[in-house]
Amino acid sequence: MRLRHKPWASEYIAEHSQYAIANPEQYKGKWHEIFGNNNPIHIEVGTGKGQFLTGMAQQNPDINYIGIELFDSVIVAALQKVVELQLPNMKLLNVNAKDLAEYFDNNEISRIYLNFSDPWPKPRHTKRRLTYKSFLSLYEKILVKGGEIHFKTDNQGLFEYSLISFSEYGLELKFLSLDLHNSHFEGNIMTEYEEKFSSKGQRIYRVEAKYKN
Ligand code: SAM
Repeated sequence: MRLRHKPWASEYIAEHSQYAIANPEQYKGKWHEIFGNNNPIHIEVGTGKGQFLTGMAQQNPDINYIGIELFDSVIVAALQKVVELQLPNMKLLNVNAKDLAEYFDNNEISRIYLNFSDPWPKPRHTKRRLTYKSFLSLYEKILVKGGEIHFKTDNQGLFEYSLISFSEYGLELKFLSLDLHNSHFEGNIMTEYEEKFSSKGQRIYRVEAKYKN
């Protein structure tokens, strides 16, 4: 993700606290109260500029969505979309995914989306990959029993690594596609990275990984 310094980002985020939640640790175990309903909660880790999650939130009004993004200069673009669309079923958290258990209680989340996660190709950076076993353990804590990770990437190396990591962890792999855009998968919503890479002719890989019930 190319980062541009946006000095106005933190101010814009503070001004729209109904969507960009400040101090999210105080809502641990209480996200249903924030949304005002008991609908399932799906999160996207590394939500970037938010095209995927805002699309999902529009398409599925009975699901609540929370986007997790590290950089304020990036999440602000997602926030602008949510503000413009006034999406009641979407929130954003400007936090680091390694701290997810501080913000979400056990079994609070029904699904996790990982889209075009940073590949961290160097072996010494393996632990930073969002599909490394310590992240899988963190996701397991906050997910309901039998919860799922839905993962898309253009990066063959990260995809191969993640399939192994998922299966070594004991996750069941479903709906594996080595060429999503030429598959029977319906209702795909493209992310910003997906649009960029697929327009250059790169194949998109996708898999769903399910924890044990
Ligand atoms: N998902 C978007 C897409 O497909 O267009 C963005 C993909 S971009 C390559 C990866 C994003 O993940 C970046 O915006 C980055 O800041 C975010 N990210 C990486 N590590 C993160 C972490 N530990 N916590 C939260 N966000 C993270």
